[in-house]
Amino acid sequence: MNRDIFIKKIESGAEKIWDVIIIGGGATGLGAAVDAASRGFETLLVEQSDFAKGTSSRSTKLVHGGVRYLAQGDLSLVFEALHERGLLFQNAPHLVRNQKFIIPVYEWWEGPFYNVGMKVYDAMAGKLGIGPSEKISKEETLKAIPNLDENGLLGGVIYYDGQFDDSRLAINLAQTAAENGATVLNYAEAVALLKNGGGILEGIILEDKETGKKYSARAKTVVNATGIFVDEIAKMDDPGAKEIIKPSQGVHIVLDKSFLQGDAAIMIPHTSDGRVLFAVPWHDKVIVGTTDTPMKSKTLEPRALEEEIEFLISTSSKYLKKDPKREDVLSIFAGLRPLAAPDEEGETKEISRKHIITVSRSGLITVSGGKWTTYRKMGEDIVDNAILVGSLDEVECRTKNMPIHGYVKNVDFFEPLYYYGSDKGKIEELIAEDEKLKEPIHPALPYIKAEIVWAVRRETARTVEDFLARRARALFLDAKSAAESAPVVAKIMAKELGRSRKWIKNQVEEFTALADGYKLD
Ligand SMILES: Cc1cc2nc3c(=O)[nH]c(=O)nc-3n(C[C@H](O)[C@H](O)[C@H](O)COP(=O)(O)OP(=O)(O)OC[C@H]3O[C@@H](n4cnc5c(N)ncnc54)[C@H](O)[C@@H]3O)c2cc1C
Repeated sequence: MNRDIFIKKIESGAEKIWDVIIIGGGATGLGAAVDAASRGFETLLVEQSDFAKGTSSRSTKLVHGGVRYLAQGDLSLVFEALHERGLLFQNAPHLVRNQKFIIPVYEWWEGPFYNVGMKVYDAMAGKLGIGPSEKISKEETLKAIPNLDENGLLGGVIYYDGQFDDSRLAINLAQTAAENGATVLNYAEAVALLKNGGGILEGIILEDKETGKKYSARAKTVVNATGIFVDEIAKMDDPGAKEIIKPSQGVHIVLDKSFLQGDAAIMIPHTSDGRVLFAVPWHDKVIVGTTDTPMKSKTLEPRALEEEIEFLISTSSKYLKKDPKREDVLSIFAGLRPLAAPDEEGETKEISRKHIITVSRSGLITVSGGKWTTYRKMGEDIVDNAILVGSLDEVECRTKNMPIHGYVKNVDFFEPLYYYGSDKGKIEELIAEDEKLKEPIHPALPYIKAEIVWAVRRETARTVEDFLARRARALFLDAKSAAESAPVVAKIMAKELGRSRKWIKNQVEEFTALADGYKLD
């Protein structure tokens, strides 16, 4: 995966007609790119920023059927997501792990109620189940979660779901698409759509955000997989297009692991104000979230509202022995769900997370809604539509049993660099060539300098943020330490990319300002 080679391909291929152009490099677009390329279609994906810069790096990191959707009676979504959960375990075992969850029980009726519910959840997973749920005593609950608040605790219900690293999966999907022949370009924005005399879509104009150069790219089909921005692309196609996205913000805070000892996660199905709250171990920290707040503005860098911060801190304090304070928050991040709005007004938490695909009169294929967990099925459905719209060869989907880049069995999730899967050995080769690359980038972070070199050479990292936020997860784990790492990261990246001192200075300044938005004062 090399951006310079991809740009040359665009430059020299002005006459080329792609089978599928995908706009948007989040979970949805990348899933479609893997699907299209693996069916043998000529595929181009353009992402205006970095892969997974949008919602796809800001999830709760769960590969799950969705216990809440079961409670809402959205059975088809739960079936589909549990099936996809099983396939992700099978196809990306280096990034998806089995996570034990405990629902603490404080009222007499909750034990039998959640126990039955989770048995239904187990049964719906069928052969792809990952462990049976069970009711446990108060003592067993406290043994699994030593710092759960035991005030009024009666017992618990254990169940299992998947947990993953969202932006690392996105990078691995971009690599998988590229290995199947796709051209996947970050920092390339679709700025206009091309149409023929009959008003039928025949491509896009894309802008290389690094040079400002514009290129025409022609295609038999164009997919709009831009998450919360699908309405903006739909309006390029038809200025009168009806807006379908109702963004809903979800916020997480990240705490030190001492707040949640042991390896189990906590799931609170019904907080005092009717929300779901998770506290999940992740990369040796704890993620607590989330909220569901309707928002008007659409941005790649949303910020938590004061009421969301207050909700997360006060609600988690009810369940944890050690009450988190603002100063304990190592990072705070917000994401916007690209929910497809029903016509009537309603709360965003009631809107189904199912994906919806529409095709405009000119042939623009737009996808909205969905979940990270179901990205593969979304990709399959998008490409099935593209085959019809573009009269492409009727090739069957090949992703169900297709290993994702990095695939390796029997991963030890406690080993350093495990998240690179089959690439781990290649990073160790870099260290063998230059011992200095073994040095940590910061004493409080688990990352080493070799990862920076690897991210530039093999994972198309172009900025300090690309590395610290999405190749490594430093910004999301500990914003202060991430900011302190920026100078060392910028220096190594500048050497790899052939950039100037001025570039280093600008990158450090930009990243430091960004990291401020992930800190709580
Ligand atoms: C708080 C929160 C928690 C969540 N937790 C989970 C979870 O635990 N498990 C789960 O399965 N799902 C979860 N989800 C849902 C999941 O994260 C999203 O459904 C998914 O990431 C959406 O991916 P996407 O590709 O559609 O959108 P995005 O990731 O936003 O990608 C769209 C991309 O399009 C790009 N783009 C926009 N305009 C253009 C243009 N003109 N040219 C080029 N590119 C463009 C953007 O830059 C962006 O990168 C969560 C969502 C939120 C908000």
